[in-house]
Order: sequence, then structure tokens, then C-alpha cells
Amino acid sequence: MRTYDVAIIGAGLAGLECASILSKEGMSVIVLEQGAISGGFFQPFKRRGVLIDSSVHYIGSLDKGQFMERFFSYLNIMNKVDFVRMDNDEFETIYLDGKPYPMAMGHLNFVDKLSEHFPSERRGLEKYIDSIKKISLFSIESVRRGEGFSSDSLDAVTKPVELAISSSISDKRLQRILTGNSIIYCGESALTPFYVHAMTTNSYIESSWKIRGGASGVTEAMAESVKSYGGEVRCNTEIKSILINNMRAVGVETFTGEKIMAKRVISTLHPDLTTKMVGEESGLRESYRRRVSELKNSTSMFCLYIILKRDSLEYLNKNIHIQGESPLMISFQPPLRGSLYADVVTIITPMNFSEVQKWSNSKPGLRGDDYLQFKSEFSEVLINRAEEVLANLRQSIDYTCSASPLTFRDYVKTPQGSVYGVMKDYNKPLSTFLPVKSRVENLYLAGQSVNLHGVMGVTFTSLLTCSEILGNGVVNKMGL
Ligand SMILES: Cc1cc2nc3c(=O)[nH]c(=O)nc-3n(C[C@H](O)[C@H](O)[C@H](O)COP(=O)(O)OP(=O)(O)OC[C@H]3O[C@@H](n4cnc5c(N)ncnc54)[C@H](O)[C@@H]3O)c2cc1C
Repeated sequence: MRTYDVAIIGAGLAGLECASILSKEGMSVIVLEQGAISGGFFQPFKRRGVLIDSSVHYIGSLDKGQFMERFFSYLNIMNKVDFVRMDNDEFETIYLDGKPYPMAMGHLNFVDKLSEHFPSERRGLEKYIDSIKKISLFSIESVRRGEGFSSDSLDAVTKPVELAISSSISDKRLQRILTGNSIIYCGESALTPFYVHAMTTNSYIESSWKIRGGASGVTEAMAESVKSYGGEVRCNTEIKSILINNMRAVGVETFTGEKIMAKRVISTLHPDLTTKMVGEESGLRESYRRRVSELKNSTSMFCLYIILKRDSLEYLNKNIHIQGESPLMISFQPPLRGSLYADVVTIITPMNFSEVQKWSNSKPGLRGDDYLQFKSEFSEVLINRAEEVLANLRQSIDYTCSASPLTFRDYVKTPQGSVYGVMKDYNKPLSTFLPVKSRVENLYLAGQSVNLHGVMGVTFTSLLTCSEILGNGVVNKMGL
């Protein structure tokens, strides 16, 4: 029987990144994915012949020399994906009490544009920008050293967003505007550690990009590069357990009983799922299992996908955030080249699993009429709210469909449809930081639950995981 150098569980962004790096560096790699296609949250779907992105709306730090650009260049995928740079002076509009405020790209530009609305806070904005830049630089430096975050070295881990922002900014409205995009990190200002806000926001301020033709272009290009380096990506292969011999991971077993042997295993799943895949013989302590099972998860989302009538609604090359009891984000998919009008608009808002709990025993497509009614009524609420800032929206709608926490649970298997994995809490910095080298010999962790979610956060962790296996030299090769 063949023994791979590395078997990777999950072909979402994390699994494909790790596989690309390791196979490029000469290791034999197999990626095992339960779904029918790879990509995880990057996977698209089609309705009426139109390709719709299920989740990912934009990616940060893609200007020449920035973090994601260097990484994608190392994997040779920059020229394989049609990245679209968003509006420089307003890549996001934050609506607060019906009034729009711009978030601009470039640190100085960001300060300039918001200072026009809050002239007396210019110094405060400069201080805020310095703080998020510093945290991001520090984090990249720690990847270079192969260290990841540590609560000793990173003050931002132990301070909530609210407190950190108010130490620079005294205007309450401006404080709310700066967290106006909190949906992208499921932020709760009083709980979320500042580094989550800082790294995510800083990455988008550096530069923000959409993807024409579907975000899946990124994961498809990665899957291709894995194959070009001799690696394998197998879909429809759900892993049931991690095989252990002498307290070391030696492979994985599928639900159909197939055993795939490997010198090392990387799991990109939620740590609780990973822990449950490891049997008693691993020697994992009960206290560790309990700690992982008690980790609180980030909330889920409701996503409304709207296919628009032809040439009816102008494409906006930015995202819109509406503050309110629950935040709402409107994002436009880049239209085919040359068109000024959008084909697809997505509206997302956080939703707790409890809202769909009563259908939790159902399967996709078989959840019943009352579930469809629930989704339809909730969609109406979102359209009404979005209409406040997009007057033509309703009359431009051709077709709608939606995803609820059940959709995410069933398609990517996240516990209760949690969208960003483990919820980070400044009160418990140590328990929400899991090292990439697990407590089981030869079993490594990656994916959005380990350090930070999102494209940048997941990539950050993939680099740490691969450095643990290959040594730090690999990060230096990327010129980070
Ligand atoms: C609505 C929404 C919008 C978002 N928007 C953005 C955005 O605009 N920008 C951004 O940067 N980030 C965004 N994110 C976050 C980003 O998509 C994720 O953080 C990232 O894609 C997670 O990648 P991952 O590989 O860790 O996890 P996943 O994508 O969940 O990959 C895990 C994979 O493992 C597979 N799997 C699960 N169980 C098994 C098993 N037993 N055996 C084999 N395979 C298994 C799953 O099917 C999945 O493919 C968004 C997320 C959501 C939900």
C-alpha cells in the first residue's frame, strides 16, 4: 500500500494551500474532500445558468509586494485568476443612521477620507491606523519566525476591539463606523480581540479585490497546481477517523472503510471534529478534548443571492455595510468584462443556528414548505433594508435563492453552520489559540479555526503549518 508524505483532510482554502506548498516543495500529498467539488466556502453554485459565489466576496493585500500577492505569486496563480481592484477611494461604504461614510484604500487615503467627516479626529485616526499596521506587521514577522501569535508577545490578543479603538478615537459615531464592517469577522466589539479586527481591516485597507468569474477561480487554480506538482485532490471522500499507531498519526480512514496511509496528517476541519476523529489510543487527554469541545463558535449567516434583470442595476465596485440591530452587507459580483450592470448581488447578515433549529434533522432540498416560507419572509426583510440604500433593487430582481445556517452545516460540515470557526474571545486568549502542531505526533492543524479566519487568516496559518513540516525556509522563498 502506498504511503504519502502528507494526507490532508478538507479541500477548502486551507487544505489546498497546504497541499500546494508541500507538493511544490517536493512532498507527495493527497487532499481528501467530502464534498462533490473542492473549495469549501469558495465553491460556487449555478442557477439559471448564472454562476453565483456562495461566500467569498473580496480579498485583501493583493497589490504588488503585499502579503497575499506574494503568496499567490509563489504558487503562480496571480495570472490565472481575474482579480478586480475595488474603488480606491471607497471600497466600502458604511451606512450609519442612513448616512454614508467611505472606507478608502491606502493608509493615508483612509485617514484623509474619514477626516473629511471627522476633522477633529485626524490625529486619532492616524493613531488607529498605526496600531492596525503595527499588529499586521508583527503578525507577518511572527510567521517569518514560524511562531504564530502568542499572548505574551501580542498585546492586541488580550484587548477587545472596543477598548483598543476607544484608546485612539473619542467620537462615538466614528468608533461605530470603524467597526461598521464587523460582519466580515463576526465581531462583537466587547469580546473580539483587537488583532482579529486589526489584521482583517488592515489587509483590506492595503488593497481590496473582487474576483471576476467566481472566487472559486482561486481554489480551482490551487487544485490545478497541486496536480501539476504530482499531488492528488480527491472529492466525495469523507474521512471518518485518523489512524494512530504508537501514539502517532499514520493515515486516515474513510466512511467506506478505505485506509489511506501517510507519514503526516493535516486536518483543516474544526478542531472539535478533528479531536473526535482521533481514538483513545492517541493518548489525547480528556481535559484537552473537553477544552476543545467547549470552544464557542462564531455565528452563522443568512445569505440572499439575487440574479438581476439584464442591464437593470448598475454594478458598484465596492461593498455596502448597513449598521443596525444586526449588520448587513451588500456585495456585487463583478459582471462580465465590459458591462456596467451587475448580474448578481448578495446580501448577508448574521443568523444564529437557533433560528433554524426546528429543521435541523432535515436534508438539503427536503426541509419542507415552512422552511421555504421562513427563508422567503427573511429574504423580504433583507430586501427592504437594502432598498434603503439601493432604491432600484426590488424592481431589478429576476430571481432569488438563499442559504441559511443549515446550508453551511450540510455543505461544508461546520458545526451549526458556523461561518468563521472558533469564536475568538479576548478573555480566553490561551484557550482559543491552538498550536498548528497538535498534541498527537505527526498530526497538524490548519484552517480558519486555528488562528484567524478569512483568506488572509487561513493563509497565515497554512504558512505556519507548512513551516512546521518543511522548516522556515519556505516562507523566506515567498519573499514575505
Ligand atoms: C458567507 C461568507 C462570506 C465570506 N466572505 C469572505 C470574504 O469576502 N473574504 C474572506 O477573506 N473570507 C470570507 N469568508 C471566510 C472564508 O470563506 C473562510 O474563512 C475560509 O474559506 C475557510 O477556509 P477553510 O479551508 O479553513 O475551511 P472550509 O472552506 O470550511 O474547508 C473545509 C473543507 O473540509 C471539508 N470537510 C469537512 N468535513 C470533512 C470530512 N470529514 N472529510 C473530508 N472533508 C471534510 C469541507 O467540505 C470543506 O470543503 C466568508 C465566509 C462565509 C461563510
